[in-house]
Amino acid sequence: MKETKILLSEKEIPKKWYNIMADMPNLPKPPLHPETKQPIGPDALAPIFPMSLIEQEVSTRRWIDIPEEVLKAYALWRPSPLCRAYRLEDALGTPARIYYKYEGVSPAGSHKPNTSIPQAYYNREAGIRRIATETGAGQWGSAMALAGSLFGVDVTVYMVRVSYDQKPYRRIAMQTWGATVHASPTDITQAGRRVLEADPDSPGSLGIAISEAVEDAATYNDTNYALGSVLNHVLLHQTVIGLEAERQFELAGDYPDIIIGCCGGGSNLAGVSFPFIREKINGRDLRVIAVEPTSCPTLTKGEYRYDFGDTAGLTPLVMMYTLGHDFVPPGIHAGGLRYHGDAPLICQLYHDGLIEAKAYPQTAVFDAAVRFARAEGIIPAPETAHAVKAAIDEALVCKEEGKERTILFNLSGHGYLDLQAYADYLEGRLVDYEYPEEKIKEALSRLPVIE
Ligand SMILES: *Cc1c(COP(=O)(O)O)cnc(C)c1O
Repeated sequence: MKETKILLSEKEIPKKWYNIMADMPNLPKPPLHPETKQPIGPDALAPIFPMSLIEQEVSTRRWIDIPEEVLKAYALWRPSPLCRAYRLEDALGTPARIYYKYEGVSPAGSHKPNTSIPQAYYNREAGIRRIATETGAGQWGSAMALAGSLFGVDVTVYMVRVSYDQKPYRRIAMQTWGATVHASPTDITQAGRRVLEADPDSPGSLGIAISEAVEDAATYNDTNYALGSVLNHVLLHQTVIGLEAERQFELAGDYPDIIIGCCGGGSNLAGVSFPFIREKINGRDLRVIAVEPTSCPTLTKGEYRYDFGDTAGLTPLVMMYTLGHDFVPPGIHAGGLRYHGDAPLICQLYHDGLIEAKAYPQTAVFDAAVRFARAEGIIPAPETAHAVKAAIDEALVCKEEGKERTILFNLSGHGYLDLQAYADYLEGRLVDYEYPEEKIKEALSRLPVIE
């Protein structure tokens, strides 16, 4: 019998994270202070992150031990299954072998708890009692709320007001896990009050919510900040995905030729691909594809420059492909893919030709997601659907060329709390946005100049 799910036992949860900084041909350039534009040291992060995470942020050690308590929490859902998409292969009539790593089995329904859990653990170990963070549609906020409940750390989530009002279910999940959720902008931070004075009905934005959470964390000694993507330590934690997949491919007697992940900040793509990119650096022939929306085409159309991580220009400057920190992408359903930049590690690897990138408009992405759901059952998150589209396209290339390639994509999360997006698709309300060339050009003209 051909196995559909390749499963590992709990004993096979990886005991170490893989740090790609040990093997990259070129490390990313250092982050710079937002005002002096000089490289910042690890100390600059100390007011809002615990030293253990700052050490991981800058470490070039190849393997980093996963603490016992984190492993125990991971065991609530890890190892996640590697599934062979036999039915999708049949439906497409492709000779390709398609596999997906299903991260939707976590309690929060996505890959994000792979990092929220260690972040809660290290903060608690450092004596931190509360974590302040921001969330858009709620994926990161719910992962952080879950982790806080498991490690006895209070969690305060600044949730963009329009999502707070229009997307109640993840908010309710966060509250069920015990988090305090504020509609941002609030009147409890200076950053929030400043916005409300100018516009009492502000719908909020991720940039404003970040400013509120960072201010909250910097104001209280017992409070830190947590970020769900982009930073090196976040990508490190996500490598459990690819490490498990390596072992699962060994059991299946197969090996991926093409690895695909959707790319918002880059954490799920990093997670599934970094252990394999190590092999690519060592000479193995394989392709890694980052998939983004055409309306926020960071890698495919952005410039490799220093830019701020946030809209307001308060964070350090990081070297990344960017569309400009004040670029506001159209309101596509894949909210998690609307970031103006990408993780510095992903950007450096893309710059060095170890990762490729592709962009798709959202109706084509939802066509693919529905096709997948009707063959494999799982309804993917709108973000994940970008990876599904690329996987189907690559499988169709195999069909045209009569090639039997092995394709792996990361099914980063399920879409059961995003069904409004599917309703819009099914009822013909979904629109494709033009590539916003003028707006991106303008935003890029406002990038900081580094001497
Ligand atoms: C947040 C999210 C993403 C995008 O973030 P990355 O850091 O690029 O992984 C993708 N898929 C799902 C399901 C998410 O929740």
